[in-house]
Amino acid sequence: MADFEVKAYPEMWQELGVDVARFDKARQMLGSAYASIYLSQLNRPTRMDYFDNMVAEIHGGRVQELVAAKKEGRPVVGTFCVYIPEEVVVAAGGICVGLCGGSQGSIPDAEKILPRNICPMVKSAYGFKAGKICPYFQVVDFVYGETTCDAKKKTWEILDRLVPTHVMEIPQMKNKRDKDLWLDEVKEFKRKVEGVSGKKISADDLAAAIKVINNKRRALQRLTRLRANNPAPISGKDALLIEQIAFYDEPVRFAEKVNALCDELEERVKKGEGVMPADAPRVMVAGVPMALPNWKVHNLVETAGAVIVGEESCIGSRYFKDLIDENVSDMDSQLDVLTDRYMKIDCSCFTPNDERIDQVIKEYRESTAQGILHYSLQFCHTYNIEEIRIKEACQQEGIPYLSIESDYSPEDVGQLQTRIEAFLEQIRG
Ligand code: SF4
Ligand code: SF4
Repeated sequence: MADFEVKAYPEMWQELGVDVARFDKARQMLGSAYASIYLSQLNRPTRMDYFDNMVAEIHGGRVQELVAAKKEGRPVVGTFCVYIPEEVVVAAGGICVGLCGGSQGSIPDAEKILPRNICPMVKSAYGFKAGKICPYFQVVDFVYGETTCDAKKKTWEILDRLVPTHVMEIPQMKNKRDKDLWLDEVKEFKRKVEGVSGKKISADDLAAAIKVINNKRRALQRLTRLRANNPAPISGKDALLIEQIAFYDEPVRFAEKVNALCDELEERVKKGEGVMPADAPRVMVAGVPMALPNWKVHNLVETAGAVIVGEESCIGSRYFKDLIDENVSDMDSQLDVLTDRYMKIDCSCFTPNDERIDQVIKEYRESTAQGILHYSLQFCHTYNIEEIRIKEACQQEGIPYLSIESDYSPEDVGQLQTRIEAFLEQIRG
């Protein structure tokens, strides 16, 4: 598939106010990075073709769907965090779309105004809007922001000058008063979405939306379980890509396609077919989310001959491990169980956050990995400090462990490669 390209839609981009000349260069770079990182893999499942096409159409076909939805009066909400109660948006007939914050290319735009020494995800995300180099950012009715970390919550004030930004206060502890606060925030968010859409959300709307998003999360859980087989039937790179696409694809179609892929993976497992030999080292990644197109660590690990079998991350299990109870039917109870589900997210912004330490070890066991690679972004204080406890837990359990702190630039690739190879040698024994 050497002729792969991310398709260009210059007229639509122009209408959306995108800086077309600059964006077109980014499109070409994304296409060649994708071809070399993804399409060079051997033994890929054939049903990855749908996800390849989602990348080819990332700046076109899917954006057209969002533009059409907006014309029908359906709200389009941009998000940066798995704390967004997306069921509420879907219940109003709307669409949630995860905005990219995983590219080095947009960081210089952000550094014209934001400090350099903050998390690259925040800078990258802001830079996409400031530089007008993301059609999704141009389509959204509003952006959902949250108070999970200092860099984010202060950046929303600046971002709000460029695009309406609705900020929800995420509690940082898990006591009853914190849940009450979060429930109030969810109710206010519902009012906001109803205001933008002009549609009052009924209990039936919310019940249907909960089913849709639960089904999406169930499909991702199924994919994760299949990765525990040895040999792994799918690469970590491909699984990560699917987890990234989960944030911008249409949820019903996406779940169908993930389930169809899982059917193929089940066949592979029966035949003992894998993407890597059965003796390839198996690694689980834990830590910060890897927003599209951040494939750096997965690419380094798998190029070195190992396979990644799980992501304990918001672009990963933290997004889909918990479902909402479908057995309640009145609005108050629905909002209550929805709030319960979101309160289980064990982001490092919580203190204490013992649940996450236990969850990392649990997922490690379930994934049948042989080592944990903890991944933090530079200047992310909460994950970088919580890493101390993850390391201690791994030492206690005798789990081979490597911690990496990185950004999106290619500068540290050589050094990371050396450390990853040494880690894999340790696993190989
Ligand atoms: S790590 Fe925390 S702030 Fe980041 S997406 Fe996850 S829940 Fe949100
Ligand atoms: S990675 Fe850390 S610093 Fe960056 S946005 Fe997420 S919580 Fe904030």
